[in-house]
Amino acid sequence: MKKAFIQTYGCQMNEHDSRRMETILIREGYVISNEMRHADLILINTCSVRKNPENKVYSLLGRLSRIKKRKEGLIIGVAGCVAQQEGEKILKREKTVDLIFGPDSIFLLPKMLAEVEAGRRVVNTDWMPREKKIQNFIPHEEIETGQVDCAKAMIAITKGCNNYCSFCIVPTTRGRLVSREKENILSEAKDLINKGAKEIQLLGQNVNAYKAGDTGFYELLKAMSELKDLRRLRFISPHPNDWNNRLSDLMSSQRVICNQIHLPFQVGSDRILSLMRRGHTAGEYLEKIQYLRQVVPDIAISTDVIVGFPGETEAEFEETLKVIETVRFNPVYAFVYSERPGTRAAALDDDIPQQVKDERLQQLLKVQNSIQSELLDDLVGSSQEILIDGAHPRERRAMTGRSGGNTPYMIPDCDLEIGDMVSVKTCGRKTHSLIGELTR
Ligand code: SF4
Repeated sequence: MKKAFIQTYGCQMNEHDSRRMETILIREGYVISNEMRHADLILINTCSVRKNPENKVYSLLGRLSRIKKRKEGLIIGVAGCVAQQEGEKILKREKTVDLIFGPDSIFLLPKMLAEVEAGRRVVNTDWMPREKKIQNFIPHEEIETGQVDCAKAMIAITKGCNNYCSFCIVPTTRGRLVSREKENILSEAKDLINKGAKEIQLLGQNVNAYKAGDTGFYELLKAMSELKDLRRLRFISPHPNDWNNRLSDLMSSQRVICNQIHLPFQVGSDRILSLMRRGHTAGEYLEKIQYLRQVVPDIAISTDVIVGFPGETEAEFEETLKVIETVRFNPVYAFVYSERPGTRAAALDDDIPQQVKDERLQQLLKVQNSIQSELLDDLVGSSQEILIDGAHPRERRAMTGRSGGNTPYMIPDCDLEIGDMVSVKTCGRKTHSLIGELTR
């Protein structure tokens, strides 16, 4: 039996795309292997949001060229955002690569592999053919593969983004926003629940910009939250511009929607926010957070932050720290600005020295780590519902899981299974997680 290995970089959308590739490959007679060196087909699903993941792809391709010399017939493919952006250029640069394809061409994988096996090198970075329905391009694949892993499932409800934030390459690599039909999403969700999903996460680059006919994100979220036997509902990533108090009220009224949101704010300075073309001010962001906290008091809010955007002064960086201290995020995903060719920000002078960017990042992480540590301490003694999602990698008879607020928990010495929902009392903490004691 042929073996396939997929290396995934980047966001949840890429993770989801890799699962789709796996399903297609299984249908084509492959088994999915965890070991690259045993594979007959290696696919690298790439991310171009920052320079670092892109560098990793090229360094991996360098290593693969050595493996390929030893293994005749090995097929190497590059998928995802770097593939979409660079296309043919990768084939020219990397002799070892047989196949390049973008996110819209995943469904063509069997045809592309047949062409490669016939001795051709293939590039497919076409956008979705307009005559086909969107569900052909962001399909649900777990339906065909049986049980859902970890009792958690993801459903892509949109692809692409219309926002064109000046630092972001996503609209170029993923295209304009398209939304799936509500009925199609709901039927996928019902199938997933029947297959054992307790928690569903709705995915989209700008998930709350969802709009299919008369159905907006509010209507979709409400319909999802009313599905029988669904225990938890999450979504990622919403944009502050498309967030409103009505959505906050919905989160408050529907218990199934987890008390957790990832709402990127990027920077605290209005001048930089405007250069980033984010379309909102720090004050507007904070107002939305304030209302959300008022109606969902125990909500865990995580965010994305960029430090060292072109022209960012020390005072402007301090404004970012101020937002972090005000909101008390849990957690913050912070990155130093890295120029992405093809974005509007690439035309700006990337004038902050790397050392300053790194120092600002360290300063920010120090502030954030101390906040996060306090937030974990605050949870000790609290009661939580935990969805069990795995066995602890080191502790015997211990299981891991997450609270509604998405905090990782360890339940020691228990007799639980993946997919169990249990009530615990938080009895201690580790560096980044909490320890729960079963209460029933
Ligand atoms: S909202 Fe902005 S940062 Fe998010 S995917 Fe769209 S362009 Fe990129």
